[in-house]
Amino acid sequence: PSPLDSQVWLEIRLVPYGTDRYLLLARDVTHLHRLETMRRDFVGNVSHELRTPLTVIYGVAETLNEEMADDPEVGDMLRLLQEQSERMRRLVDDLLLLSRLETGATPSHPEWVDMPRLLEELVEDGKALSGSRHHRFELTCEPGLLLEGCESELRSAFSNLIFNAVKYTPGDGYIGVRWYADKAGAHLSVTDNGIGIPAAHIPRLTERFYRVDSARSKASGGTGLGLAIVKHVLNRHRAQLTVRSQPGQGSTFICTFPTALLRRAGTRTARPPA
Ligand code: ADP
Repeated sequence: PSPLDSQVWLEIRLVPYGTDRYLLLARDVTHLHRLETMRRDFVGNVSHELRTPLTVIYGVAETLNEEMADDPEVGDMLRLLQEQSERMRRLVDDLLLLSRLETGATPSHPEWVDMPRLLEELVEDGKALSGSRHHRFELTCEPGLLLEGCESELRSAFSNLIFNAVKYTPGDGYIGVRWYADKAGAHLSVTDNGIGIPAAHIPRLTERFYRVDSARSKASGGTGLGLAIVKHVLNRHRAQLTVRSQPGQGSTFICTFPTALLRRAGTRTARPPA
């Protein structure tokens, strides 16, 4: 038997029984675990296989588009082909990332991440996405507060939060990004004064492909996987996600990291927060 076959997965629960006793319940979930592994591997493999042909289709559409720009009818069709293959490429990239994030419980390449520098870069990317919609960005960072984690994973998670703020906030709106520490840990918050989210949707936001408004999400180029990626990256960093939102007023997404993952530049460990 393969090593996988020899593993047994048990779900253990302790249930109160009477006033001073407990029952220990054990359920064999090996079968469910195997199915989940198969699902994850399947999605990972399919995404990987789709990536190359999609890149070729996108490249060909781009070249043809440049060469046939004079013919408006053909030009329109080629632009559509380019847009849709780009959308599929984003989807496949997000699926691949998600299946990679699901395979391990800890960050893949932990290092000390200079959060103020990373966030400055991501805010610049956010401004580029905003373009002529001229959102007003504000970045506030506690200087020299470093986070132990995988930079590329954290980059994906935070860029999803910042890009969502841009996507779901009308032009000229406000987008605030803060990185600070207190007794509860270190917090990365992204606030916007955009369309907001009705309370009933908030518990399901991090499910794959869950969208409050599907048409709006697709129109803004969303894959529906952004917050699922955020959730997995945060789990791997032992961090929590808190969402506060009011429809029509805006939203705040807060990622809270444990103090054990923090360091102040120039010191070996985190100084207790003031
Ligand atoms: P998508 O690619 O659709 O944006 P996400 O997983 O990133 O997928 O987000 C899930 C849904 O949560 C979005 O479709 C949108 O309805 C809602 N959402 C996420 N961020 C915001 C935000 N800042 N303001 C309003 N709605 C948001």
